[in-house]
Amino acid sequence: MDYTQTDIKYLAGVGPKKAEILNKEIDVFSVEDLLYYFPYKYIDRSRIYFIHEIDGNMPYIQLKGRITAFETLGEGRRKRLVAHFTDGTGFIDLVWFQGGKFITDKYRVGAPYIIFGKPTLFGDKFNIAHPDIDPFMGEENRATGLMPYYNTTEKMKSHFLNSKAIQKMMAVAFSSFIKNITETLPDTIVGDVRLMDLKQAMRNVHFPENTKLLRDAQYRLKFEELFYLQLNILRYTTERKNKLKGFVFSKVGEYLNSFYEKNLPFSLTNAQKRIIKEVRLDMATGEQMNRLLQGDVGSGKTLVALMLMLIALDNGFQACLMAPTEILATQHYATLVELLTGLGVEVELLTGSTKKKDRERIHQNLLTGDLQILVGTHALIEDVVRFANLGLVVIDEQHRFGVAQRAKLWSKNVNPPHILVMTATPIPRTLAMTVYGDLDVSVIDELPPGRKPIQTIHQYDKKRGALYASIKKQLQEGRQVYMVYPLIEESEKLDLKNLEEGFEHIKEIFPEYIVCKVHGKMKPKEKDAEMQRFVKNEAQIMVATTVIEVGVNVPNASVMVIESAQRFGLSQLHQLRGRVGRGADQSYCILVTPYELSAETKKRIDIMVESNDGFEIAEADLKFRGPGDLEGTQQSGIPFNLRIADIVRDGEILRCAREVAQKVLEEDPQLEKNENAILRKQLKKLGGNKYNWGLIS
Ligand code: ADP
Ligand code: MG
Repeated sequence: MDYTQTDIKYLAGVGPKKAEILNKEIDVFSVEDLLYYFPYKYIDRSRIYFIHEIDGNMPYIQLKGRITAFETLGEGRRKRLVAHFTDGTGFIDLVWFQGGKFITDKYRVGAPYIIFGKPTLFGDKFNIAHPDIDPFMGEENRATGLMPYYNTTEKMKSHFLNSKAIQKMMAVAFSSFIKNITETLPDTIVGDVRLMDLKQAMRNVHFPENTKLLRDAQYRLKFEELFYLQLNILRYTTERKNKLKGFVFSKVGEYLNSFYEKNLPFSLTNAQKRIIKEVRLDMATGEQMNRLLQGDVGSGKTLVALMLMLIALDNGFQACLMAPTEILATQHYATLVELLTGLGVEVELLTGSTKKKDRERIHQNLLTGDLQILVGTHALIEDVVRFANLGLVVIDEQHRFGVAQRAKLWSKNVNPPHILVMTATPIPRTLAMTVYGDLDVSVIDELPPGRKPIQTIHQYDKKRGALYASIKKQLQEGRQVYMVYPLIEESEKLDLKNLEEGFEHIKEIFPEYIVCKVHGKMKPKEKDAEMQRFVKNEAQIMVATTVIEVGVNVPNASVMVIESAQRFGLSQLHQLRGRVGRGADQSYCILVTPYELSAETKKRIDIMVESNDGFEIAEADLKFRGPGDLEGTQQSGIPFNLRIADIVRDGEILRCAREVAQKVLEEDPQLEKNENAILRKQLKKLGGNKYNWGLIS
């Protein structure tokens, strides 16, 4: 029987009811799906502990002993079944909050059991809630070695489909189907990379004999997963490169030259010069450019974008600059207008709040080509917005844009425009490789001269006095101050209340200064007006939510106070901090938190205090949060789930898999050779055609 085709409901012991839950909850439809449902962790069950050894910080442990009595305690929601358990060295309580009847029916007082679970201290006694219990049938029959753990949902658990049940199912699947498992990689690759074969790998990932074999099995399965991913991406990107023509920006002309001679307000940093040259060459090759520009906050990406857009204009094309928020788009627009004074370049701003009349004029002028540079928000990608000849699209702070939105931009011209995506949130190389395949990356690794590194200080929220004193000092020196509050959707009401209270409080503390306020719930108009007051220094203190996170540029602001800093992600804190340190003055970022912090939160805050390096912080952020929560991953909309590999932690395997995939495609671009039939088959099966990777990056 073919396990790839066998419906899970026909597996012995499953049946239609459980099958339906497996379908719905974990996407397991066939026996093969089950076999590819991998454990998320393993616990060593060789050792049996004594009760008297238990201390407060133990992970899962195993005990051997007897239940001396059952007892039901508590009322209502606190009602629970307790089994008193002893191994002769001490006592511990086993506790169940549900399923009491089932437990008392199943387990007997006085019989020997192996108990497995995590001990926690309750009052002055340890207990284990919802332990695993197995009858003890002699040392030789005891489960030892590495015990796999499978993720299960609440729904599954309530139908007795817990990790253990999955493991049992897995054993049934194996005994029936192991002989049918056939290799899914070409022998040459298995041999060259010295991979464990698929059958062995499957066995060892679910029933590991020892850690060495488990590791080899995991390596093999991760390699395969990443290999096919890369093979897919690389195939499409090469295809795209061959098929699509790019506009050739062959010259530098009047616009860029006169800007450079007359309007450039300062000399470019070496990094800015290098990037402009790099991109200019890239836009002249005849291939369509697809480039990511990474540069830490304040590194001067806007100026680079402007100069590149002028090159597009010099070659007779239009350009657009897209930003994730209205505030940012407005600010970019103002910056461009100022920088372009006297050069005769037509620039307009298009956002959600552009008036109908202006909007119509803009649409008109885009079509005639009179309008040369369009700055805006998502409004730019609406279908009604059409260009005469769009040659370059710059997207600022790309992580705010989803894949679909970016893809829409491609349809703005017969030939796709060159695309430059700018970000201050560095995407780790491994992720960039996975998501974008052939995306070229440029890095601005230098800040404009004269900037003093921002000093970051961690302060407990009880010490308001000291905080206000240092703010006051800065205000007296003529500087401006940001105070940021978290606004998290789940607790929106409370967060807004905190912000309002903070605003009133700050007004009282600093009566001689003007305080303004910006948050996401305000109308764009109001937001803008408040923002402008701060930009013009008509207000000295701005109380805000993270709407100011990206891009906002007020060089005179030298203090960034972040309230409840523990609630922000590291990359977000770094972005916020980047709002100061933009002038020549010493700037400060003050992270305010409660005194009580978990060890991990404390570590995160410490990283912020110690490091000013966006790349370092992004890597640390990934490690703490795991790629699943990664903003980049979710918002760039990676449309796949990895079953076993982890893009961040398995960077080395990814690199290797990519090299092998590259080699395969160099030798056989269409995968036509006999030995590659298996690759074609697998790619097809993995539904590789669903996403056109080359196009959406
Ligand atoms: P980001 O890369 O974070 O978008 P911006 O483009 O907003 O940074 O630039 C930050 C600040 O640095 C702006 O005030 C800008 O005018 C200034 N700036 C940019 N390039 C230079 C330069 N070469 N020398 C001095 N200041 C510069
Ligand atoms: Mg910027």
